Amino acid sequence: MAIQKTQQARTSYRGRLAPSPTGLLHVGHARTFWTASQRARDAGGTLILRMDDLDPERSRAEYAEASIEDLRWLGIRWQEGPDKGGERGPYQQSKRLPHYEAALHKLIRRGFVYPCRCSRRDLSRSALAPHESRSSYSSAGHGMQLRGGDLRDAESRGGDLRNIDTDDEPIYPGTCRTFDVELAQLPGPTSARLLPQNVNWRFRVPDGVPVEFVDRNLGPQRFVAGVDFGDFLVWRRDNVPSYQLASTVDDGMMEISEVVRGADLLKSTARQILLFRALGYAAPNWFHCELVLDHNGQRLAKRHDALALRTLRQRGLTPMNILSAAMPVMA
Ligand SMILES: [Zn+2]
Repeated sequence: MAIQKTQQARTSYRGRLAPSPTGLLHVGHARTFWTASQRARDAGGTLILRMDDLDPERSRAEYAEASIEDLRWLGIRWQEGPDKGGERGPYQQSKRLPHYEAALHKLIRRGFVYPCRCSRRDLSRSALAPHESRSSYSSAGHGMQLRGGDLRDAESRGGDLRNIDTDDEPIYPGTCRTFDVELAQLPGPTSARLLPQNVNWRFRVPDGVPVEFVDRNLGPQRFVAGVDFGDFLVWRRDNVPSYQLASTVDDGMMEISEVVRGADLLKSTARQILLFRALGYAAPNWFHCELVLDHNGQRLAKRHDALALRTLRQRGLTPMNILSAAMPVMA
């Protein structure tokens, strides 16, 4: 049975811009955010600015301010956000921790996640073991097949958008999968005190089940759980929710009807569709933008300071120059 995403009829378009304030915005972001703003405008909808500032080590207030200024300079306007307020705030992920905790507890009670005690070293060892990574094996007790992923292969197929997910993680070998939490049976809210502490929490994906969706820009997409991606992190042992969880909770709670973002997140979308279902939210529609590549055909990263919007602006380029260069089709 393929998992089709539930597309709920909605009366109003709600889109979002979700920059991570871990660096300066560059021409790639300009293209994606401009596309998002145009789609919201064309639909007569609402655009939300949300700061994805969960990463406590890499997020900086000055980058958040710079992002807002750069977006305004591009001519992008939003109706809800950290600077505007709105009914579904707060609009900074760092202020939404209680929502993510509630979602984690819901996933625990419903049996979708399990605690994982593997260290980073355990994981990198299993991901790099060349023989293991190509073979299938059973996870004892569940009789489920997990196929190891070969990351190096995936990276070498750089031209394929499906394999350059920026939030990708190695396929988890399933070591802790059989650890069932008895708390899942408990009625009512799970007390945080009763939960295992200092562990990662992973989503148990339905092995072999295809996750399909029709991308509004790139067409039909299909990823197979347990093959294209494995049991993914929803909560880190240092008490930080994963990007996958936070993004899903926010898009669900903020009633986002269409997510516009870079094609590097296609595989994350497949994971998030599973989370939307597990949490009982209607999944949004998806519009993934082609990535802007540099002169060497590499995906732009935040380290490409020469292509930061601020740098280009200081060199006298206008928003129109930047957008027409980044979007030849739409110019
Ligand atoms: Zn583990």
